[in-house]
Amino acid sequence: MSSEYSYANLVFLTVLTAANAVTGLISMAIMNSKGRSGLVGFLLGFFFSVAGIIVCAILPEDALHLHQRMTRMIPPAAPRSAPVCPRCGQPLTAIVRFCPSCGGQITP
Ligand SMILES: [Zn+2]
Repeated sequence: MSSEYSYANLVFLTVLTAANAVTGLISMAIMNSKGRSGLVGFLLGFFFSVAGIIVCAILPEDALHLHQRMTRMIPPAAPRSAPVCPRCGQPLTAIVRFCPSCGGQITP
């Protein structure tokens, strides 16, 4: 009887550990995507289960990682599409009829 109980207990612990490993991996993935420590994320998810995942989700993105991501997102300058004045070559920032630099008429 007691051996059956300990077996059930072992199964329960194994399932619990496996479930915590899954939540740990999810937390680790969240932390990695935020540029934070994946190990800390795994431990949070492992020991605090779903609560650990929530903590990882609430945590703000690492400042340096956010900066790097934003820098990557900025598209490179496209000088080809920018209109320029046909007379003086001044770049035109908006659709204007006359060049703000030399006063030349801009033909669309
Ligand atoms: Zn001009």
